[in-house]
Amino acid sequence: MIAVLGSANMDLVVTVDRAPGRGETVTGRTYDTVPGGKGANQALAAARAGADVAFLGAVGDDDFGLRITALLSADGVDVSGLVVSDRPTGTAHITVDGDGDNSIVVVPGANGTVTELTDAHRAVIDAADAVLLQLELPLALVTEAARYAHERGVRVVLTPAPAVPLPEELLAAVDVLVPNEHEAALLTGDGDPVTAARSLAARGGDVVVTLGARGAVRVSGESTTQVAAFAVAAVDTTAAGDTFAGVLAAGLASGLEWPAALRRASAAAALSVQRPGASSSMPSRAEIDAFLS
Ligand code: ATP
Repeated sequence: MIAVLGSANMDLVVTVDRAPGRGETVTGRTYDTVPGGKGANQALAAARAGADVAFLGAVGDDDFGLRITALLSADGVDVSGLVVSDRPTGTAHITVDGDGDNSIVVVPGANGTVTELTDAHRAVIDAADAVLLQLELPLALVTEAARYAHERGVRVVLTPAPAVPLPEELLAAVDVLVPNEHEAALLTGDGDPVTAARSLAARGGDVVVTLGARGAVRVSGESTTQVAAFAVAAVDTTAAGDTFAGVLAAGLASGLEWPAALRRASAAAALSVQRPGASSSMPSRAEIDAFLS
């Protein structure tokens, strides 16, 4: 079983020809509400890939919370650890302009109430093969969860996004660090993903830096392995990284060796970029199998 302790948000996406300046009002073209949050995305990706997943987090007592809970439940994610808080469900207010550039305001809402590792969280982590973490919940909580899991021999997988300097204590508890190339550069000050991955791996554990259409690079101890991406026509890369991390964790938790787990993660991400959206783009286990056969 994989425990995902993370964020659940509703993304409120408007498209405009031109983003408004200060004090200005513009007319939007479209408006859409899309379930997201890196935690919920990774939970869904892992569950669709065939893993047993328990999601730990919080939503509000509102329609967005109900929708996110229903979406996770529909794919078999155990939501008994998804608390209903007295703050509204977290939202990401996203404006996409005519050039495809984004500006985003995130309001953590209910996610901000997940500040302590509770006995309920500990019980789920105790029963897990792996814990999947990101940085959209408070850093102190993520650090505590990682330490708790690591001490019990539960594999800790961390996507360090949004990138902030990582406390030594957190890094020491992470078994698999999965930054994208921008996060790897921010964490190390090194723009070369291979040497950045090596310096992150020097602290122990495995590091997988994702490189978009160029695939990924894994560093483990002294060994560096390039992971090829599948050549596909990408239409929307939203949540490619979350799909990759969720499916990688699912593969490793099911006992796959690293090369096979990385191949499945790359295949799932390649399938997801060919479809629009986040949760709507994540493939099922059968689709991943068919793509790889
Ligand atoms: P996002 O923030 O959009 O979720 P990310 O920046 O975290 O993504 P990326 O490095 O862009 O993550 O992509 C993760 C993985 O998805 C890559 O390692 C690769 O396997 C796959 N991928 C991404 N873009 C493409 C693409 N255009 N074609 C094929 N595979 C892709």
